[in-house]
Amino acid sequence: MAGRKDEPGEALDAGTMAAAPPQAGDGDSCDETCWFRSSDDVRQGFIRGIEKFPVRPVTYNQIEGMAIFEGDIALGTEAEMNDVVASVQGETADTVRGLAIAASPGEIVHGVGIPGLRYRWPNGLIPYTVVQPLQNVVNQAIAHFAANTRIRFVLRTAANQAQYPNYVSFEQQSGCWSYVGMQGNGKQVISLGAGCETLGIAVHEICHALGLWHEQSREDRDTNVQIVWANIQAGREHNFNQHIVDGDDIGGYDFGSIMHYGRRAFSKNNQDTITPNGGQAIGQRNGLSAGDIAAIRAMYPQLEPTQSWRGTQFSGNLAGNQTQTWFTHSWPSHWFVVWTAVPTAPVVDGPAQIELTVRMSRQADRANARLVKYHLTVRNLTASPVSFQARYEVLGWHPSYL
Ligand SMILES: [Zn+2]
Repeated sequence: MAGRKDEPGEALDAGTMAAAPPQAGDGDSCDETCWFRSSDDVRQGFIRGIEKFPVRPVTYNQIEGMAIFEGDIALGTEAEMNDVVASVQGETADTVRGLAIAASPGEIVHGVGIPGLRYRWPNGLIPYTVVQPLQNVVNQAIAHFAANTRIRFVLRTAANQAQYPNYVSFEQQSGCWSYVGMQGNGKQVISLGAGCETLGIAVHEICHALGLWHEQSREDRDTNVQIVWANIQAGREHNFNQHIVDGDDIGGYDFGSIMHYGRRAFSKNNQDTITPNGGQAIGQRNGLSAGDIAAIRAMYPQLEPTQSWRGTQFSGNLAGNQTQTWFTHSWPSHWFVVWTAVPTAPVVDGPAQIELTVRMSRQADRANARLVKYHLTVRNLTASPVSFQARYEVLGWHPSYL
C-alpha cells in the first residue's frame, strides 16, 4: 500500500474554511480539471468495507455540506457522518480501536461509512427518478447499460414506490458526484450539475452507484501509472494517495476504464498529474470499457446466465378423465423454466393421454423477492387411470424476466 502523504495538521488548519469553488484549468473546456472537485476543507474520517477491510481511514473534502472523496464520490452529509463516527467509536473491534487511538489528538475525526455497500442493487435493477433537464442524458446512459450489461433501470413512480424503497435520484446539484453502492436508506442522489450532463459522466457516476471505485485506486496502481505530485494543486494530494477497493481488483489494470482519472486531474499547471507507464490513453469518458463491463459482471454474478438444469418436480396419478391442479411455490421469477408432463404408466401409442396447462402467479407476500408459483393443471384425456411425471428444465435466467 502506498504511503499516505496528507498532513493531518495542515488539514486541521483549513478545517473550518468555506468550500472553494471548482477550479477549471486555465479556461479550458470542461474536462477532468472541473469534473472532479476539491476544497480547502480537508477532513479525516473512516470508510467501511465489506469484503476486504472492516474499516479504513480516509481523507476527504467537505464541500457544500457533502463529504466528497476523490473528487466525485459522496460519502454522506455532515449529519450522516456524525452518526457514523459515533457508531465507529462505539465499536470494540481491535482494528477500529486501533485506528481511533492512532488519530492525532485534536484531529477532527469524522466517521465515513458506506453501510449499504454490502447491498448491491437487488437483481441488478436500479429504480430511479430524474429531473426534467437530465432526462435525455439519463435515458442515453440507461440505454448504454442495457446494451452492454445486465443492469436495468426502472422509473420509480407513485404506483411502484412501495416496491422500490431504495432508488437513485438524478439531480442537478453542484458538481458531478455519486455515492458508491446502494446505500439502502431510501433516496440517494447522483448529481449531474453544470458541465456534467454528458453520457460519459452519467455512466461514470452510475458505475459508482453500482459499487465501483476509481480505477487508479487499485492496489496495483503504482506499477501502472506514476503520480506527478509536483503538478497537483496544493492541498489536493489526498485525492491520489488512497487505495480503497472493496473486494479484489478485477481483471488487469484497465487504462481505458471510464473510472480512471484523466491525466490532468487536480492539475495546478495544466500539466500531467498522472502519467501511464506505457504511455496509454487514460480518462476516457465515452463509455464502458471491456474491463468496466467485466467488473460489473463480477459484482453482479447472479445476473449471469447459467447452465441449464432439469429435474422431476413430482409424480402424480389421475383417474380416468380427471383434471387436477398442483402448484409449486418459491420459484425465482427471473428463471426461464419449461414444464412438461409425460405419462409413465401406461404409455400407449395413439392420441395424447394427458394435457398440461401452466399458469403463473406472483407470491403476494414475497413481491420484492420476485418469487412465483407455477400452477400445473394436468388433464387425463383418456377414460383409464394414468400415472405421470411433471418435469422442469431451467434454461437460464435474466434480470429482465419479471
Ligand atoms: Zn468518480
